[in-house]
Amino acid sequence: DRSVVIVGAGQAGSALAFRLREIGHQGPIALIGEEIWPPYQRPPLSKKYLTGELERDRLFLKPAGAYDEAGIELVLGRPVTGIDRAARRVLLAGVDNPERRYDILVLATGGSPRLPEDLSDPLPDNIFTLRGIGDADRMRASFAPGRRLLVVGGGYIGLELAAVARLQGLEVTLIEQAPRILGRVACAETADYFRELHTGQGVMIREGVAIAGYRGPVQRPSAVVLADGTEISFDLAVFGIGLVPNDALASEAGLHCDGGVLVDGWGRTSDPGIFAVGDCARLPLDGRMLRIESVHNAIAQAEHLADYLVQPDVSAYAPLPWFWSDQYACKLQIAGLNLGYTSVVTRRGSKSGSLSNWYFRDGKMIACDAMNDARSFMLAKRWLAADRQPTPEMMADPAWNPASF
Ligand code: FAD
Repeated sequence: DRSVVIVGAGQAGSALAFRLREIGHQGPIALIGEEIWPPYQRPPLSKKYLTGELERDRLFLKPAGAYDEAGIELVLGRPVTGIDRAARRVLLAGVDNPERRYDILVLATGGSPRLPEDLSDPLPDNIFTLRGIGDADRMRASFAPGRRLLVVGGGYIGLELAAVARLQGLEVTLIEQAPRILGRVACAETADYFRELHTGQGVMIREGVAIAGYRGPVQRPSAVVLADGTEISFDLAVFGIGLVPNDALASEAGLHCDGGVLVDGWGRTSDPGIFAVGDCARLPLDGRMLRIESVHNAIAQAEHLADYLVQPDVSAYAPLPWFWSDQYACKLQIAGLNLGYTSVVTRRGSKSGSLSNWYFRDGKMIACDAMNDARSFMLAKRWLAADRQPTPEMMADPAWNPASF
């Protein structure tokens, strides 16, 4: 009958609340969010929601009545402003009902887009970041054929935005400060595939160049000047330069944080009554402390925590991470974590245009990027789950039939 309070009504928070009910948690559950929207999926914000193909209603994770039906108190538009650990209560902004007591507190606060350091806050009118529905709505309103978009950052969100903008007839330049796009998350072979895909669609990509300054009015810059002196004019710009975990609430309450709320394999923070899940949490995996920014992890970690809260003998969280990205007609699916890889083997798929890059760490297969190659993705997931180990030599042999393995 313990009272559970979840801060952050997003992907992880909602998965946790519903899982708790499904497995028989009887006590009160409050799911508190600062946004005005009920929990929704973010991936379409840089994909079909931005093109207008997907209606807003389709973003919501549950039908409106589902929270009441499950006995989950959904509190929206109310940021949690503080945690009183001694009294086991959280403080909410606003005068009406400004606190909630908890036996178990779960932080599922996600993250915020990293902001460019050299621009004023709030950002100029024609410069965007993308995390929520409001950001996507504002961006969509200024997308029009022929307008010049500058995308800063060659990670998945930047590349997806470039693709969506091109499909809508904008002129797109993408700049990346690191030596190549996808430098933090994928191998050079996968980066080459996406560079070629985007260049073929008319995106101008500049890598290894940093922004040195801006031209035009402070409230509406019209160009960036790059470190090499090149000037790129734009009508609008979007920054996709990473995520900062929302861990201020935790650190102000004295919980251990270091680039995210530090948790163990059961989501436990340095306070035994407080847990953290999803993008805001940094957890032990593969011998390191990691934050995993993905829908799969948000759900899997939240459900693991729910199981632990109801049945404390579960073993430590040991997920098989997966992720996807859609760009033009290419569906990228990623299985595993490629951290510390030492070699990559590329295989052509059975269909034309399908390709997979297999990551090995000291001869052990650890991850796969599959481009338009659902079959390789499924195989990689299956092999990783069963700890079956194709060798780099097998994968490199075009005559070898993976289905026979
Ligand atoms: P969120 O879903 O962000 O939820 C956190 C919630 O907490 C937010 O609503 C926030 O407002 C709220 N909050 C924060 N602080 C407080 C507070 N003090 N009080 C109350 N509420 C608070 N992942 C994939 O796997 N595949 C994809 O293709 C993909 N594409 C993406 C595209 C975009 C544009 C974005 C932004 C993300 C994408 N992701 C993708 C990542 C995925 O959406 C996240 O990993 C996932 O949403 C994390 O869930 P979460 O619950 O941890 O955080």
